[in-house]
Amino acid sequence: MDNLSRTLPAEFRNLSELARNLWWSWSPEGRSVFSHFDPTLWRLTHHDPMRQLQEIDPSRLEMLRQDMVFIRKYQAAMNAFHEYMAASDHWFGTQYPHLNGGTIAYFSAEFGLHRSVPLYSGGLGILAGDHLKEASDLGIPLVAVGFMYNQAYFRQVIDAEGWQEAVYDSVDQMAMPIDLARTPAGELAKIQVRIGRRLVTCIIWQVRVGRVSLYLLDTNSPENAPEDRHLTARLYGGDHQTRLCQELLLGIGGVRALRAVGYHPHVWHANEGHPAFLLVERIGELVKQGMALDEAANQVRLNTVFTTHTPVPAGHDVFSADLIREYCQWWWEDLGLTQEDFMALGRHPELSPNQFHMTTLAIRLAAFVNGVSREHEHVSRKMFQVLWPERSVNQVPIHSVTNGVHVPTWIAKEMDMLFRKYLELDWRERCDDQELWKRIEGVPDEELWETRQFLKRKMLIFIRQRARIGWMDGTMDPIQVLASGALLEPYSLTLGFARRYATYKRATLLFSDLDRLKKILLNPWRPVQIIFAGKAHPADQPGRELIHQLYQFAKAHDLGGHIAFVEDYDMHVAKFLVQGVDVWLNNPRPPLEASGTSGQKAALNGVPNLSVLDGWWKEGYDGSNGWAVPLPDEPLDEGKQDAWDSENLYTLLEKEIVPLYYERGIDGIPHGWCATAKNAIRTGAPIFSARRMLKEYMGRAYAPLFPDAVSSVEEKLA
Ligand SMILES: *Cc1c(COP(=O)(O)O)cnc(C)c1O
Repeated sequence: MDNLSRTLPAEFRNLSELARNLWWSWSPEGRSVFSHFDPTLWRLTHHDPMRQLQEIDPSRLEMLRQDMVFIRKYQAAMNAFHEYMAASDHWFGTQYPHLNGGTIAYFSAEFGLHRSVPLYSGGLGILAGDHLKEASDLGIPLVAVGFMYNQAYFRQVIDAEGWQEAVYDSVDQMAMPIDLARTPAGELAKIQVRIGRRLVTCIIWQVRVGRVSLYLLDTNSPENAPEDRHLTARLYGGDHQTRLCQELLLGIGGVRALRAVGYHPHVWHANEGHPAFLLVERIGELVKQGMALDEAANQVRLNTVFTTHTPVPAGHDVFSADLIREYCQWWWEDLGLTQEDFMALGRHPELSPNQFHMTTLAIRLAAFVNGVSREHEHVSRKMFQVLWPERSVNQVPIHSVTNGVHVPTWIAKEMDMLFRKYLELDWRERCDDQELWKRIEGVPDEELWETRQFLKRKMLIFIRQRARIGWMDGTMDPIQVLASGALLEPYSLTLGFARRYATYKRATLLFSDLDRLKKILLNPWRPVQIIFAGKAHPADQPGRELIHQLYQFAKAHDLGGHIAFVEDYDMHVAKFLVQGVDVWLNNPRPPLEASGTSGQKAALNGVPNLSVLDGWWKEGYDGSNGWAVPLPDEPLDEGKQDAWDSENLYTLLEKEIVPLYYERGIDGIPHGWCATAKNAIRTGAPIFSARRMLKEYMGRAYAPLFPDAVSSVEEKLA
């Protein structure tokens, strides 16, 4: 029994078990237990059961012992949880009985599971988190590896001038739903990795994500030198050197960690290039057993999956031969190999032979390589054609599995209730079934509209509450209170734009003709407001400039508070925004958005997208489910592209979106708008769900690579 359970009344002991498995976070039964447990603490802790259990008042516990409603909810949740954990009639069990006993290892530098487990910075991590949750729901035997960051990704504070400040909070491990991992023999699991001349020890933590376990490497152990203890402190922190050390730990240490806790995976999946050294470690394992290097590399390739996530060149790590020598020499010396052998694994034909390209390493050594949307498949083929000089672009063996979102995580409770009523009680179990979603037509416009309006008010209350706290604790001056959304109002057409402020995302595109924008926003009969949120990487000065500029618009008197900037975008804020706004806006410079997933979360909740045709929207848009900026007939230079895109955005707003929103029937309901919202749900929910995505990974990538299930991998992949 852990410390938390000791303080709980005997009849509620299992609450701690429930809090220690993130299943609670996407199960209505689990959430309803903790929101009832102490509604105020639920809100104050931003929905954090572990902290609730630590901070709950004993008198509240006494009350709960008499509270029949709570007791019933608690029992229902425990039953549902135990049933979920024990089930064997899940999708994987029925579809792939012959793969029973198999394991798929999934490596990622970040995982976005819940706000209370701050191991992510943005989209890549949340995608990885959704991957684990859906694998669990489908019964796919996945095990995952990542880092325990002792300082969460930074908290964003905007100062009075509009400059982003990055605040690093240390995480309180006692308040996280994590446990020290154990070996099959029951000892605490630890592994070591040579990093240059030093032997670095990693402690291993375990996070329970439904049926899936995520193991986290942590160098903050007393055996290590002080500088090594900080190696896993920050996500994407530090210089090139820290980055290389982190990636060595993740790849090499990750394989060792899985072995230490008793896993021997059959298929290995590297999510983005950061963990690609896992391939190097596995080659080393085979060479040590006496296999020749080439043969070992071929062997490793047979059961490796690699997903690339960005067409932006800076998103692909490159290390110099000097750095590689400094930190990896031990590897080739141990195996009787040379630095040449090592460098060859990551040689990109267009870079100097003195550079080691992580994505190339992963592409060369994976049997299934994929981008994250059809458009991204095409862009990646062009980008990496140099690795197959004898092939045409269309023959480059890079595929795509379009990203999707974990529906139970991102659906608003109120939309869930609507779907239960009009689709089917267990609609979640069939959320990738396109037939089921046709029933959305049966939802009365009035109910849909009321639900959408309710969710907007809920978001505005959340935003205002944050502003109030900033006002009361003195961290915000009056104008910041206004800039953070206090003047927003519930009846205006509300656009949402939340993303990382990289310049290619063009956050300020809509401000390129300020007078025209003002006319749209300030129309007294048909007002429009826009909510912005998102972080810039602290080292990205142009990104910080963008936030600064947006903040000036949010503060500007003549924009009347129709622009708001909400601080500290994270999963918690994201939920309110994707569920609460009327339109989700996205205008990156094509084709640099590999997929994007926030718009998928919005569509699922009945929020249509207004976006350039890039990433997922290029295959998601069908003319009825939102709005798309048309592509120009011929490629334009950047300036002209910006002008083309902004002109089209203004026109769509003026001619289509604003009129449709404000055109009300005699019952006061915008029926045309409701039709678009329903189309967004019907077309978006099933296809851009993590359920569809995981089934696709299983069928196209994982299952064909299981060694004993197939005779010829090549045959299956053809
Ligand atoms: C979904 C999500 C993202 C990714 O969204 P994009 O559309 O790829 O920008 C990033 N951050 C948070 C907090 C999210 O919830």
